Amino acid sequence: MSTYKNDTLTVGTATAKPGEVVRGGIPTVDLAGGVKVEIPVVVINGAEAGPTFWVNAAIHGDEPEGPLACALAVKQIDPAKLSGAVVLVPCVNPLAFSAAERGNPLDTFAYDMNRIYPGKANGYFSDRIANAHWEAMKDVADLEISIHSGGAHSFLDKAIFVDERPESVELAKAMGEGWGCIMSNFTKSGSPMAAMNNAGKVGITVELGGRSYTSPERFRYVGEELAKSIVNICYHYDMLDGTATYPDDATKGQQEALLAPASGIFLPEPGVDFLTMMKKGDTIARIINIFGDEVGELKAPADGMFFGLRALPNVNQGDWCCFFNKVEGPRD
Ligand SMILES: [Zn+2]
Repeated sequence: MSTYKNDTLTVGTATAKPGEVVRGGIPTVDLAGGVKVEIPVVVINGAEAGPTFWVNAAIHGDEPEGPLACALAVKQIDPAKLSGAVVLVPCVNPLAFSAAERGNPLDTFAYDMNRIYPGKANGYFSDRIANAHWEAMKDVADLEISIHSGGAHSFLDKAIFVDERPESVELAKAMGEGWGCIMSNFTKSGSPMAAMNNAGKVGITVELGGRSYTSPERFRYVGEELAKSIVNICYHYDMLDGTATYPDDATKGQQEALLAPASGIFLPEPGVDFLTMMKKGDTIARIINIFGDEVGELKAPADGMFFGLRALPNVNQGDWCCFFNKVEGPRD
């Protein structure tokens, strides 16, 4: 890991001296109406030397949990007591976030920004935003987490994707207690995490929250849990004084997306729960038609656990229903 030199740190328009917290923006593109699109950034530059930990949130604009986590975490990190730097990017995709949509509504060619990293300086609109973000991040960040959630149509409980290098698994476990659902990355390119890992750095993708957890107390819970993990990572890497927690039941596995076998109303089976081991063939949910007849059943494809369920009960054949972790065994 490279070590930050305890000097002034600049990201976009934010320049922070040691011991300072400075807000700014990463300039990207100009819109037809004259609006300049900037990616907001907060640079927390520690008084002492250490690694640079970079947090990305809301690359999908319908996932406001990461921005809340950044807002809560910045209040908990005192730059005078910090070794290294924490860079918070609360909204990687500001046009998507402003529209509360997964992708940038002004760009239907490169709509999903989590599939196009490191972007292209001469590419589609969103390619250029991704590339500006990547250029700002690539030489600064040592450790990176990308915060996601189930967005507009689902709830995802604590889950992490890693590229299985030991240093990536270490960062995943540093998310802390309750974050034991750690799966192998399903895409080797296109996301910030993949671009970081392909550049020899350490990046992971974490998931928590979504549509059915947006009532006031649940949304705050999700933000607080994620903020706690940001601080826990600082404890683990000795960037802040404190005792880190770790998952005591971490598992290794592969994600499988389960799609609706029929159309109707999606009803999770009573008694089933997130992040709880099931046997292959156990019922996860049933689908009833508009007259109440059972027309489909969703079963566990392997021994494992589900970490994501659709939050919108209305379902059509082929719709996404469930993210299942096919558990291969415990992690060391
Ligand atoms: Zn997402």
